[in-house]
Amino acid sequence: MKICEVCGLPEELCVCEEIAREVQTVKVFTVRRRFGKLMTIVEGIDEHDIDIKELTKTLKSKCACGGTAKNGQIELQGDHKTKVKEVLSSMGFSSDTIEIRDYKKKNNHKHNNNHNNNRHHKKH
Ligand SMILES: [Zn+2]
Repeated sequence: MKICEVCGLPEELCVCEEIAREVQTVKVFTVRRRFGKLMTIVEGIDEHDIDIKELTKTLKSKCACGGTAKNGQIELQGDHKTKVKEVLSSMGFSSDTIEIRDYKKKNNHKHNNNHNNNRHHKKH
């Protein structure tokens, strides 16, 4: 019989992982990668408490997409923010602690000649 190192209870009785799921703040957001591909990033999963590879496998099959787990983050191909939250909630993660962030476009400040001229005139 295996004993959990954290709580000292036999593994079948151990609730460490369930507790960890409830208290963890998970961030779900999308980033745009090369060639304009959107990736959904799941951040804040504690690898010591959660089997991140197993979780990645579950998310990949539920979202029907490709993905990898690396550096404590899960990367899924495509935009699956809503689905990820659904899946995590159904697995026992508290939906209050799942933070969804929308992808924000970087502002491209275009400095055209007119703009520069106006600023120049104001100085005088
Ligand atoms: Zn335990």
